[in-house]
Amino acid sequence: MEHDTDILISGAGIAGLVAAAGLAGLGHRVTIVDPAPPATSAETQGSDLRSTAYLQPARALFERLGLWSLLAEAATPLAALQVIDTSGWPPVERDRRLFTPDDLGETVFGWNLLNWHTHGLLSRHLAAMPGVTLRHQVGFADMLQRDDIVRVRLTDGKRLTARLVVGADGRSSPVARAAGIAMNTRRYGQKAMAFVARHTLPHGDVSTEIYNSGGAFTTVPLPDHNGAPASAIVWMNDGPRAQDLMALDDAALGNEMTLRACAVLGDMRPISPRRLWPVITQTAEALTARRVALIAEAAHVLPPIGAQGLNTSLQDVAALLDSLSHDPGAPDGLNRYANARTRDVAARAAVIDLFNRVCQSDTPAVQALRLAGLRKVYDIAPLRRGVMRAGLGKRHAPNQAPNQAPNQAANT
Ligand SMILES: Cc1cc2nc3c(=O)[nH]c(=O)nc-3n(C[C@H](O)[C@H](O)[C@H](O)COP(=O)(O)OP(=O)(O)OC[C@H]3O[C@@H](n4cnc5c(N)ncnc54)[C@H](O)[C@@H]3O)c2cc1C
Repeated sequence: MEHDTDILISGAGIAGLVAAAGLAGLGHRVTIVDPAPPATSAETQGSDLRSTAYLQPARALFERLGLWSLLAEAATPLAALQVIDTSGWPPVERDRRLFTPDDLGETVFGWNLLNWHTHGLLSRHLAAMPGVTLRHQVGFADMLQRDDIVRVRLTDGKRLTARLVVGADGRSSPVARAAGIAMNTRRYGQKAMAFVARHTLPHGDVSTEIYNSGGAFTTVPLPDHNGAPASAIVWMNDGPRAQDLMALDDAALGNEMTLRACAVLGDMRPISPRRLWPVITQTAEALTARRVALIAEAAHVLPPIGAQGLNTSLQDVAALLDSLSHDPGAPDGLNRYANARTRDVAARAAVIDLFNRVCQSDTPAVQALRLAGLRKVYDIAPLRRGVMRAGLGKRHAPNQAPNQAPNQAANT
């Protein structure tokens, strides 16, 4: 049947952009729409101020799609992960452990990039890519799903037909809603504040997660800022405490942050705007519907611990590329995609949900459990390696070549 585009992707977040590059690379005509304007700097209204620590499998996907060369220059390597357990306020350190990638035969765990920067690099690349139409400031509004085609209405009133609609439109996914896919959502009354800070001590390419009641405080290394060491910060707190911190001026927030981090990076000061994100675990009841596939936060939202969110999303993209048929919305390909991802998404959501509840709790018995868990995971070598391997993604094998050719076996 005649159609305007092979695939319509709703949502030009990082996952939607990477999916567009991959699907166009397989020869599909792709249209990608997003109501937000393109982010060109950290100061742009609505700019994504988070950073993403891309783990090894994410880099493998970027290499496979020819995108890594765009991103590599801005990426800071993660040479180790330090976990510190604390209690009370001001926090007192109870124990710490250093996880290193050489345990898995690797030199780094991953690479950190600021989201707005990645977004800009990928958008510019896609704007020039044959087979891709990237439209900002117009979004997905509604659709009518048929067996052979989807009729989509956009927010500017225009209509177009596609063989597949990919929902990459975030945690309130309009595509999921239009397809009648329900969400299972768990709320914690917790918020994550994301921003960039400079500090007086070097980070040494080490990412640090510091646990206390309310949630994790995470620092992820960035390049120096005006000659001072800098890190991306994700600071999770119960809602009222998060709102109080948002209201502080930079000097006062810096003092609170320095205390919260037990001064592991010396004196800290925020150097970017701050943004608050509600912390939830959410999974879609189905990853597919008739001629529809959900990926990334449209399919699953995880609390920001252990760099799982976008890394899990990129595994969705890899599975979608490996699954779709020549007719990209045909049921066999969509079933392959759902089969490839459903179990992994559910398992990751269950583990991160449990971990976040243990980290958030201020109950002494649960805090004791958290400390014992950290020691046990670290001190038992096979357990430590197993947890690190699982955290890096199940496809990861030591010294895996990152630039494998795409597996097109399923693209019949
Ligand atoms: C504080 C914090 C830190 C994090 N750190 C990490 C990390 O280190 N590592 C990691 O792997 N993950 C991390 N995550 C998770 C990660 O940031 C998210 O999973 C990821 O950014 C979500 O990407 P996305 O493309 O699914 O959604 P989004 O980035 O939300 O993109 C969705 C897009 O859909 C668009 N949209 C909305 N409505 C419509 C419509 N009607 N039509 C079309 N488009 C629409 C939106 O404008 C948006 O651009 C973190 C999350 C948080 C909250």
